[in-house]
Amino acid sequence: MPATTRRAWILALVLVATAAITAPAASPPAERNVVLVLVDGLRWQEVFTGADAALLDKDSGGIADAEAARATWWRESPAERRRLLLPFLWTVVAREGQLLGNRALGSAVDVANAARVSYPGYSEMIVGFADPAITGNAAVVNPNRSVFEWLAGLPATRGRVAVIGAWDRVAEIAACGRGGVFVNAGLEPITVPPLTAEQALLNRIKAESFPPWPGEPVDAVTFYAALEYVRAHMPRALWLTFGETDEWAHARRYDRTLLSAQRTDAFIAALWHELQATPATRGTTTLIVAGDHGRGRTGKDWTDHGKDVPGAGEVWIAALGPLTAALGERSRHEPVTLSQVAATVAAALGEDYAAAEPRAAPPIPGLITYSGR
Ligand SMILES: [Zn+2]
Repeated sequence: MPATTRRAWILALVLVATAAITAPAASPPAERNVVLVLVDGLRWQEVFTGADAALLDKDSGGIADAEAARATWWRESPAERRRLLLPFLWTVVAREGQLLGNRALGSAVDVANAARVSYPGYSEMIVGFADPAITGNAAVVNPNRSVFEWLAGLPATRGRVAVIGAWDRVAEIAACGRGGVFVNAGLEPITVPPLTAEQALLNRIKAESFPPWPGEPVDAVTFYAALEYVRAHMPRALWLTFGETDEWAHARRYDRTLLSAQRTDAFIAALWHELQATPATRGTTTLIVAGDHGRGRTGKDWTDHGKDVPGAGEVWIAALGPLTAALGERSRHEPVTLSQVAATVAAALGEDYAAAEPRAAPPIPGLITYSGR
């Protein structure tokens, strides 16, 4: 056919494909997938307003060159600051998906657990309720069944459920693969065949490097290991957890906390683009992103979290996909808790987790538009 006609056809196909990706589906896609991403301890304040002027200094933020940090991260408008910090969240997700947790707009998301530390938050997010017996980060195998363990037992998702975590404790939180979930955490190599050359190299980096934190590689290693796993095995349900945002905050390095947040946003973007470039997951995958706990609000205690730190229970959630209406930044809704994420993950696959687990909180209203089977 003539070049101009061919170009017109290609343009038409691109338009149709784009519409299929961006418009919420009136009916469920034939196959559905879900990816849940946890960003450890990234405050909602940074997510919705970008860098905090009070922390871009030496005393509160631990930044040696405050002037350079301000030049990098500070802009007068909060909209500009957050887009600079988290460009994927504030372009693609804000335009095509949803963001919850901006308390200035009456959108409150809180953890249901009282401990406000990581294990209870990670667990609450995937089991669907706060277990009062889980109060700290001790290496105990989670006695509670998670939505991933439950999904691994269903016909549609059996053998297609994976958990990959930067923090080694994710292994215990995800019950060490109980129920048929593939679990990889911390510095443990991924050895399940087919082992690509890239995965083999990432395994060597895990074995031969000395990351700043015990039991946890830098997020880039975890991310690319997860990406290689996704390319090779394409799980229908994946939980991916990042840790650097929490580690640098504890170290009172606000500059590195911001860099880690920006890098995490880029990893999430890369994963999303990979899923959209792959026929098996294009237009059929829901992405949900959330924090596990908040942190202090002041220059003194922003580094910390826990039951006695004001603000440490405040979190945020973002979602994007064919079943999520493009409502952008949500406002003025009933308070949401992190425990609602588990049933929301199931709803993205057309499954009713709350019916199977009576303790589980219901899905987040309005996040997954199509909830029937
Ligand atoms: Zn922490």
